[in-house]
Amino acid sequence: MSDRIGLGYDLHRLVPGRKLILGGLEIPFSRGLEGHSDADALIHAVIDALLGASGDGDIGRLFPDSDPAWKNARGADLLRTVVARLDAAGLEIVHVDTVIAAEKPAVAPHVGDMKKILCPLLGIGPDALGIKGKTNEGVGAIGRGEAIACWAVALLRAK
Ligand code: MG
Repeated sequence: MSDRIGLGYDLHRLVPGRKLILGGLEIPFSRGLEGHSDADALIHAVIDALLGASGDGDIGRLFPDSDPAWKNARGADLLRTVVARLDAAGLEIVHVDTVIAAEKPAVAPHVGDMKKILCPLLGIGPDALGIKGKTNEGVGAIGRGEAIACWAVALLRAK
């Protein structure tokens, strides 16, 4: 069994007075995602996809939000830790694909900059990372701009 896939999902509320961080990138917007850490829903979803594929638990088990050590933790730093665990387990990341569901702001103009941050962290090229923005067509909490949700899938291969 050399190929393994994982699925990750995360959602955070959009609130005033917070920076909006997605994929390790600060995106100019009137509100940001609420959370104990930097609330980077994209990186959190990617981490859970990676951990799902490696069979190494989930983000809440590795970095419990009850632990003050992870208060204001940067998603990029958590991701770096998880990638090191995969490497130690003899797993390489082959491909990661993601969806960001956000009514606003538009994601597409920021995809290139997110890839510049995430690809080196993941150790993959830009063609091996998908980041796709979708609106929710005004439907539900995401459509009303109350939250942003992210999904990710990851393919890992034993080295
Ligand atoms: Mg989260």
